[in-house]
Amino acid sequence: MNYETVIGLEIHVQLKTQSKLFCGCSTRSAYERDVPPNRHICPICTGHPGVLPRPINRKAVELAVRLASAVRSSIHPESDFDRKNYFYADLPKGYQITQHGKPLAEGGFIDFILDGIDQRIDLNHMHLEEDPGKSKIEGGVWLVDMNRCGVPLVEIVTQPDLRSASEAAAFVTEFRRIVRYLGVSEGNMEMGNLRCDANVSIRPSSSDPLGVKTEIKNLNSIRFLEDAVNWEIKRQIRVLNAGGVIKQITIAWDDQVKEGQLSREKESEADYRYFREPNLIPVAISEAFIADASIDLPELPARRLRRYIREHEISPSDAVTLIDERSVADYFESVLMIYSGATKRAADWVRNHVLRALNDPENAFNQINELPVTAEYLAELLDLMDAGVISDALGPQIFQKIIETGRSPKQIIEQEGLRPPEEDDLIQIIDQVLADDPETVRRYREGNDKVLNRLIGQVMKQTRGRADAQKVRCLLIERADAL
Ligand SMILES: [Zn+2]
Repeated sequence: MNYETVIGLEIHVQLKTQSKLFCGCSTRSAYERDVPPNRHICPICTGHPGVLPRPINRKAVELAVRLASAVRSSIHPESDFDRKNYFYADLPKGYQITQHGKPLAEGGFIDFILDGIDQRIDLNHMHLEEDPGKSKIEGGVWLVDMNRCGVPLVEIVTQPDLRSASEAAAFVTEFRRIVRYLGVSEGNMEMGNLRCDANVSIRPSSSDPLGVKTEIKNLNSIRFLEDAVNWEIKRQIRVLNAGGVIKQITIAWDDQVKEGQLSREKESEADYRYFREPNLIPVAISEAFIADASIDLPELPARRLRRYIREHEISPSDAVTLIDERSVADYFESVLMIYSGATKRAADWVRNHVLRALNDPENAFNQINELPVTAEYLAELLDLMDAGVISDALGPQIFQKIIETGRSPKQIIEQEGLRPPEEDDLIQIIDQVLADDPETVRRYREGNDKVLNRLIGQVMKQTRGRADAQKVRCLLIERADAL
């Protein structure tokens, strides 16, 4: 029997603030690997009796509003905080401060492109909340790290509009790009800056009512999400085909064995006993606050991707590489503003040379704004190659020299004597090469064109790669034929 899959996502994003949501503790542990456990904590975030939350971190609200505004959610002029009560070792207060009744924003949508097709997924709502801590069992001992307690989160909840694991994966990929483009989160999934829960159900056809959904919790990689959702779809189909019923449970994905661990029956709303957090006043958000938070909103990545494919005629896979990081796409566009040649040439150089240099562990920089080859220098280098001032073969070498010295392409060409030889000098070199290798010349004159490459190679070696290979070829043929 065939089934339709229905997926809704809940994505938790750690907002990039210096301090926590309701206290002054540092959020450093969310971004740095070596922070010792329980280093950035205080009586507020560890829930000591009698303490009160501080007024909400303004920066966190600003970042959440920036995100809401970028994805066209309607931001409520007033939103409230509630207590979500549950018992777990990493939640010292016994409740999480979240927004339940009146969340920050409702609606909105996210566009993305999957297999060349435009997709739009609607959002249900978006709310602010505090992160719980972390716990793990090690050597039979339950260990709790409260550094994460109170780190600001925004949670976005989609409508159940996704229809496959690959669609869900593409959605999260795009969402991660968006939060990074906006500067609201680092979006590092491995560090837990972005985690998602997937609600999965199946039904015989799209006209049937929704099936019972299960929830796969805490997926911190896009591949885990895709694997886990596919695994769960198969499991549900097996259960239904065997005449069973789907229970509303939560599932923890174990990537080691590529299997879900079915855990507790899921709590219902009532189990959380939500009520208004009495120690916090509502968050009032004015039009002016929204305008400030939304200043300089960038073009979102999916739109940029579409533009590159349509306007610049860059292939979809190359375009994805260029837009993935905002700083790389910005750099590419700066090159285009100055460079007078073909867009494709600039795109290829950014993809091949610039990205390779950024990913090279040997280099001391890993951000594009630290790259000694600025957009101006790259445009200059490409223009010099196009104008024949230097051969194409020398391009990568000069690129590397810029990285090593920080000097401009023109300076390097002058100082290293990399200009191509004058034609007279080139002819002299060619004649010498022909004179030194009569055997190869004989074979060429007998009609073996393949040996020409060997002669070209010798000339290029003599000129230390400075000569234009095409020109060498023409002159070689001319001189060899005239012998
Ligand atoms: Zn604290």
